[in-house]
Amino acid sequence: MATAQSRLERRETEALLEERSGLEKHCCHCGSTAVRRWGKTRTQLQRWRCSDCGKTFSSATGTLVERVHRRDGMAAVAKDMMARQPQPCRALAAALGVDKMTVWRWRTRLLAALGDVGQSGLKGIVEADETYFRESRKGSREWVRHQRAPSRHPKPPRLRWRDYDRQGIPLPRGLSRWQIPVLVTRDRGGATAANRLRSTRLREIAQSLTPRLARDAMLCTDAAGVYRTYANRTGRAIEQVNTSLNQRVRANGVYHIQNVNAFHARFKEFMQPFRGPATKYLDGYVAWMLMRDANAQSSDGANPIFVRAL
Ligand SMILES: [Zn+2]
Repeated sequence: MATAQSRLERRETEALLEERSGLEKHCCHCGSTAVRRWGKTRTQLQRWRCSDCGKTFSSATGTLVERVHRRDGMAAVAKDMMARQPQPCRALAAALGVDKMTVWRWRTRLLAALGDVGQSGLKGIVEADETYFRESRKGSREWVRHQRAPSRHPKPPRLRWRDYDRQGIPLPRGLSRWQIPVLVTRDRGGATAANRLRSTRLREIAQSLTPRLARDAMLCTDAAGVYRTYANRTGRAIEQVNTSLNQRVRANGVYHIQNVNAFHARFKEFMQPFRGPATKYLDGYVAWMLMRDANAQSSDGANPIFVRAL
């Protein structure tokens, strides 16, 4: 049932689509400009037909809302993703009158479409530090498959987290390979970048940091040797605080990593209700967190997640 709110959201989505596709129409199948109006789509978008290849298209073709019937629902999910407290899929699904898996699919589609939203050109004093998320295979069928046919499906590399407890086996301690690092970089102006690392080796750190930093940016990190090595090899200034010795600030409070650690804390708090989403989606959650953080002040105007994802 279309409520006034969902009609409004649908109209907004359509306006956004038409606006983004621009005035200059190209066929999105062959690129030809020999196109003409060809009625309306089911969702009342202008449909076009290409005289060269004979195919039709609209401004939704090739975007992530193509083949989404309830665009108002997807817009509502995007809006919820920027809300102070995003709702569980079930609650959203009930409010929108769709299945919970539909909401989940829309959300993962939006997250995948965000891509790399971290800022670059970070300047001045740039704090960098990693935070860790426990590896998760939520939704994975690997143990089920293994138990059904052990000969065809080898044993997964670790137990399910709950089984450690159930079987009284001690959990892997400290930073094992089951702790997934996310490197967060933030300058004092609040510009932030973050991405998942495959490891905390120099090469990975360098690949993550180098494209983010302005040429004369100075690094501020904890005492980890890898950052010192990175700075030495790239000729970059670095100041380190020894957080393990409880040294929080240096040089009268100029050098610290408290902004980045505050971001870590907000990130953990944001992730908590999701109960360890599968690690294969972690990049999406990093992007989501960055979008929320960058748009924390502005609550009006077009939804930044939807705009970016389209
Ligand atoms: Zn064409």
